[in-house]
Amino acid sequence: MPPRVELPPGLRAAILAAADGALPLECCGLLEGARDGELFRIKAIHPARNLSPDQSCFEIDPADHFAAQKAARASGHAIIGCYHSHPHGAAQPSAADVAGAGQDDFLWLIAGEGRLNAFVYRDGGFLGCVTGADWVTSSE
Ligand SMILES: [Zn+2]
Repeated sequence: MPPRVELPPGLRAAILAAADGALPLECCGLLEGARDGELFRIKAIHPARNLSPDQSCFEIDPADHFAAQKAARASGHAIIGCYHSHPHGAAQPSAADVAGAGQDDFLWLIAGEGRLNAFVYRDGGFLGCVTGADWVTSSE
């Protein structure tokens, strides 16, 4: 069974809004939540500064990463993934994303062309999560 993602609609809207707001650059941030086997539950997002001057990749500010980890731990959660946008491309991992990924079982949300897709990085590649109209479910 492919990995599944639980993302409250409000957080989905916030990521898509951040993608619009960052144009022409990529937005980026971290995903706070809990992982239960192949189910990734997203509880909060932590927008981060994108240190990359390049319009086709992103680099999360380490200070923002540290702050997000601290906040997640304080809520009894962990950082289970990251999100970023593709201002000029589809919501699919780019060559730069494959090159920059490294942590196994890390969830990646990618926004592009008005869509938001989810992938899990594992064994050197990106695994597509259950997507489509029904992949976003509220944890309420
Ligand atoms: Zn990317």
